[in-house]
Amino acid sequence: MEQKNITQYSINYETKQHPSVKGLQIIEGKNNFPISWLNKQGYCEYQLYLEHVKNIKSPTTPEMTHGSEIHKQLEDIFKQESAQVSFEEVIESSKSEASMSRECFVISPKYGIRGHIDEIWMKPEEIVIIDDKPGRTPYKSTMNQVRAYCLAFKDMSGDDRKIKGALRERGTENLFWIEPFTEDVEKEIKFTIDRIHGLFNGSKPFMPTKNPKKCHSCRFKHDCEHAQ
Ligand code: SF4
Repeated sequence: MEQKNITQYSINYETKQHPSVKGLQIIEGKNNFPISWLNKQGYCEYQLYLEHVKNIKSPTTPEMTHGSEIHKQLEDIFKQESAQVSFEEVIESSKSEASMSRECFVISPKYGIRGHIDEIWMKPEEIVIIDDKPGRTPYKSTMNQVRAYCLAFKDMSGDDRKIKGALRERGTENLFWIEPFTEDVEKEIKFTIDRIHGLFNGSKPFMPTKNPKKCHSCRFKHDCEHAQ
């Protein structure tokens, strides 16, 4: 597959920072959150509250540092070896010739989400959206993150090719989970995204996990009144 570095987008939205929630933006009059928050929400909603509403800083874990280093190395190699294109150009050219891109930015003002896809394969017959994760376990939280990328890509591109979401073991070629982005999956992820909007607009409570094992490994356990 030809490597294409997506550096331009035809649409640029005016963004405003939310006055009280760190990381939340307001785009086209609607709250817009990073898709990576789906991963946090699946782990424990109260983490979102502590980090983004209470603005509590937590130490970076060795896993996070290691993950960022691998990510950066792969991105640097990719940039050296790939041609620069716009999002719209690669959507069009991939209808006849498959391409691979990394760090593809996607945004959907309609659903209030945005983020960077680790790797995307655009083939004439389908789109494959890949998120790199440590380990080989497909958690609901990580699956939801990929599903939200699929939704944002679909909304942003308007492309009608089949889309698949996949999780890959970081630093390897091992796609350990892959799922077609069907209508049912789309409906389910929209529901979860609505829930997160509900947390930040105050219509839903941030629910702490009931799983003590999660608290044990949580970066916020020393600042959390619900830690078990
Ligand atoms: S300590 Fe437990 S309840 Fe508190 S934020 Fe962490 S995982 Fe959630």
